[in-house]
Amino acid sequence: MARRPHVMVVAPPAQGHVRPLLKLSHQIASQGIKVTFVNTEIIHSKVVAAMSDSKNEEIGGVTLVSVPDGVGQEDDRKDIFKFTECFQRTMPGNLKDLIQRTNDSNEDEPIRFVLVGATIGWLLDVVQDLGIKQAAFWTGSPAGLAFFCHVPKLIEDGVLDMNGNIVENDQASISEEIPAWNCSELPWHFPGEQKLQKLFFDMGLVIRPTAQHVKWILCNASYELHSQACDLVPNILPVGPFLTTTENSASTGSFWLEDTSCLSWLDGQEAGSVVYVAFGSIAVFSQQQFDEIALGLELSGQPFLWVVRSDLANGSPVAYPDGFLERVADRGKIVEWAPQENVLAHPSIAVFLTHCGWNSTMEGASLGVPFLCWPYFADQFYNQKYICDIWKVGLKVNPGEDGIRSRTEISTKIQQGICDDNIRINASKRKDLCQKCLSKVIEKAPSLEDNTKGAPGMVRDGGTRYKRN
Ligand code: UDP
Repeated sequence: MARRPHVMVVAPPAQGHVRPLLKLSHQIASQGIKVTFVNTEIIHSKVVAAMSDSKNEEIGGVTLVSVPDGVGQEDDRKDIFKFTECFQRTMPGNLKDLIQRTNDSNEDEPIRFVLVGATIGWLLDVVQDLGIKQAAFWTGSPAGLAFFCHVPKLIEDGVLDMNGNIVENDQASISEEIPAWNCSELPWHFPGEQKLQKLFFDMGLVIRPTAQHVKWILCNASYELHSQACDLVPNILPVGPFLTTTENSASTGSFWLEDTSCLSWLDGQEAGSVVYVAFGSIAVFSQQQFDEIALGLELSGQPFLWVVRSDLANGSPVAYPDGFLERVADRGKIVEWAPQENVLAHPSIAVFLTHCGWNSTMEGASLGVPFLCWPYFADQFYNQKYICDIWKVGLKVNPGEDGIRSRTEISTKIQQGICDDNIRINASKRKDLCQKCLSKVIEKAPSLEDNTKGAPGMVRDGGTRYKRN
């Protein structure tokens, strides 16, 4: 067998990073490149357990491997401060060992290239020391990447303080071409939780040095659809949007087993009638808010498919309002985890009630589904702005003064979302645009080893910035 080039992909330990990186890995592997995909041990065991063929850790040229995350106690993993400290301290050494072991057992096909999630870009020093070429992958929107890259300048200009607070105005702007960030849209905004805000702000400070360090920073977007934001990051390489295809669906990188029974249930529903409700992998709700979601779905009168992770009720066992499950039995389907892209592609889906994570945003937009937006944290508030104000493909589900989204608000927005022709037409147009750009990574990407070329349709200007041809 001919020797293959060998790429190692290192994923940050979160669902929203693992899934897009695995999609990208499958595309790279489909070009005859060997890919070794690295998760932490805990994440690796979740991904493998959720695979349709969980005995096989090599799928379509992608080999799944793991490294310890350096955290001793299970409890410490729930403590984000302890976890971050242990992870950052031990990961460089663990990755270095893994690279050396992998090369020792693959003498014919040593690792030629390492791609890491940009949020763990501090790992690249180790890769550099080993003399291996590198790139980074940004999981969020190009606008979010541009914002993080501009943070040092915003601090220098006195717009942000060292804790990430906006100093004077209520907004931070990096360009007139894209919307400014309001205080509540800052990716590290955690009202009343200064320590957590500082942790997220400091984690974000790694993005700019990472982007400067690598020749290319890849992301799940397309230049055609996000040109203004892309133009703000000189070496961005937008290679999305990604959708799971049938050939790579055996390992989607999900942390939970996908319950495919919902697809046959959707087959039995009327076209354009079902509300799909899914808040990604991290969002949690108080019992009061959980009850309002249930009662709002009931009040709407629409059929619904609701993803209720076992940890959705903030650590408590999930408890539905009295009699709810019986009352909605003939029109509600609840699963712990759904095959989301298949669901969004189903003709019965009317609207997507979502937390606006970037992956969910790109999936919904690529499949032309109108959104009902309920951002939870990080970049999701800014993504909502794109969905509702720029693309005009969704509506906001607003909280009341007590911070709770009421059953009436939820039900009203479901009805409005279903009846709004403009939003439906815009969503369908957006789908057409996205489908034209669907990721064909190898066609789109210049050689990752060649820094003389820019992204497609772009030329290098003065060695540091790109301009459109
Ligand atoms: N997802 C899924 N099934 C579900 C819910 C979510 O496969 O029931 C996937 C979804 O398709 C997306 C990812 O999980 O690819 C969630 O990423 P996102 O950035 O939207 O949110 P996060 O989990 O990072 O908050």
